[in-house]
Amino acid sequence: MLQLQRDVSLREFNTFGLPATARYLVTIDSEAALVDALAMPELAGLPRLVLGGGSNVVLTQDFDGVVLKMAIRHRERLADDAHASYVRGGAGEVWHDFVGWTLEQGCPGLENLALIPGTLGAAPIQNIGAYGLELAERFASLRALDTTTGEFVTLERDDCAFGYRDSLFKREPGRFIIVSVTLRLPRPWHAVTGYADVSRTFADAGIESPSAVQIFEAVADIRRRKLPDPAVLGNAGSFFKNPVVDAQTFADLRDRFAQIVGYAQPDGTWKVAAGWLIDQCGWRGKSLGQAAVHERQALVLVNRGGASGADIVALAKAVQASVHERFGISLDPEPLML
Ligand SMILES: Cc1cc2nc3c(=O)[nH]c(=O)nc-3n(C[C@H](O)[C@H](O)[C@H](O)COP(=O)(O)OP(=O)(O)OC[C@H]3O[C@@H](n4cnc5c(N)ncnc54)[C@H](O)[C@@H]3O)c2cc1C
Repeated sequence: MLQLQRDVSLREFNTFGLPATARYLVTIDSEAALVDALAMPELAGLPRLVLGGGSNVVLTQDFDGVVLKMAIRHRERLADDAHASYVRGGAGEVWHDFVGWTLEQGCPGLENLALIPGTLGAAPIQNIGAYGLELAERFASLRALDTTTGEFVTLERDDCAFGYRDSLFKREPGRFIIVSVTLRLPRPWHAVTGYADVSRTFADAGIESPSAVQIFEAVADIRRRKLPDPAVLGNAGSFFKNPVVDAQTFADLRDRFAQIVGYAQPDGTWKVAAGWLIDQCGWRGKSLGQAAVHERQALVLVNRGGASGADIVALAKAVQASVHERFGISLDPEPLML
């Protein structure tokens, strides 16, 4: 039985801990519940917001619509083929727990994405990535309700237009409500240890060929050391995407700033470390009111307690302006601003 809650505080539902109230909230624990919720007369014509773990949103105002709190939970190991294992889960599965479960099932391949907050259903939205791996590299398909037709559809990897922190779902926000995701874990498994922090961890420990579980644990340890825990200090992880510039622009920047940190991309462009740019502008540890740039990681904006969404946005704009003034580079925010 669906429960429509009215005037619900969203503070507990976003990892920034920002204050905002939703006119309605309904918890979606099955496909049938989703269909029923969308047919409720009270909700007809109202704006909708799907929320998973709320770890990639900035709530700047009350939401005069309905929040669909995604809670569809199930996990299945599907049949293997000659080249891969397949696993499927409900959109409301907690991402990190799902990754741990795949390892217990003897299906490695997601370990580099350990400890990313949020849900399985949100992982395709920005094509989550970390420590040398992006979701798209392990993605098979997803099932979603297309709200423009009211039909459930299956989208394969090529349909999703995945890019760096980007996908079809960012370009057509709100159109698809994802209910389950199927991942493809290639066999034989190969460790992904090229990322500097990861390779250093194993070099220091004298481990030449780490197992998937060792990578899972190492990534989780690194993340706990480097990133603030949202349960302690509100945040949404990296606030800005790393800007991508062409080779000439990067060469010009390196002439002016010899220490600039950038990574060559296969297509000849360069991904510039946004955290380095922000750090160079002197923002690390600085605050505007209760919104602050994290003292250990300049790419992360935090709520020191009592900040509003407007405070976070004001700080983000100030950081963007400094970086643009000094480097001529525009920083794009990663989270959804509402
Ligand atoms: C400490 C910290 C570290 C982080 N590190 C990383 C990182 O390393 N790499 C990375 O990529 N991200 C990172 N993030 C960002 C975040 O964890 C991911 O973007 C995550 O996938 C968001 O999941 P969520 O369930 O919290 O999504 P939410 O914040 O609830 O939603 C995000 C967006 O997805 C939409 N959405 C959610 N679920 C669905 C669904 N079922 N169907 C359709 N739309 C949906 C929402 O409407 C919204 O637009 C980090 C965040 C934090 C707080």
